[in-house]
Amino acid sequence: MKTQDLIKEWLKNMGEDVNREGLKESPERITEAYEYLTSGYKMDLKDLLKGVIFDEKYDEMVIMKDIDLFSLCEHHLLPFYGKCHVAYIPKGKIIGLSKIPRIVEVFSRRLQIQERLTTQIANSFNELVQPLGVAVVIEAFHLCIAMRGVEKQAAYATTSAMLGAFRTHRETRDEFLQLLKKNA
Ligand code: ZN
Repeated sequence: MKTQDLIKEWLKNMGEDVNREGLKESPERITEAYEYLTSGYKMDLKDLLKGVIFDEKYDEMVIMKDIDLFSLCEHHLLPFYGKCHVAYIPKGKIIGLSKIPRIVEVFSRRLQIQERLTTQIANSFNELVQPLGVAVVIEAFHLCIAMRGVEKQAAYATTSAMLGAFRTHRETRDEFLQLLKKNA
């Protein structure tokens, strides 16, 4: 069965009139919207990052803060969204800064849980750039918690993944966390 038809059935089960004007085109629109929101499955990271990793002697911490993040929780297919912060310490190679949000997109445009999303971004960054260390922090607001009226204060979650120097060196980790706080 086509996705559009499944959605039509679903709307009927809600008790809706699928032929009324506002809903007529909705099955197509919903299908398209979710295709976009889950387009990360079809993205090839290696392809996307071809030619954007350069040899460079820079070996200080690089931080990209406040990357917009939108994803869908796999339990309810409702959005969770917020900010992603990525830091790394190069080991002879740097990545074009504008590509870091692309890595975040590849994994956030899927059905996710925040924990897995965080480690997937960190692991693939680690694999592709091979830095001395990489850290990823995600702060997100979960609509499935907020909208369903469970405890509203619990709708925010922070997750982190620390690899390499960020895991083994406390000062490195602390420096990163301090820099995150700075203009928060
Ligand atoms: Zn959920």
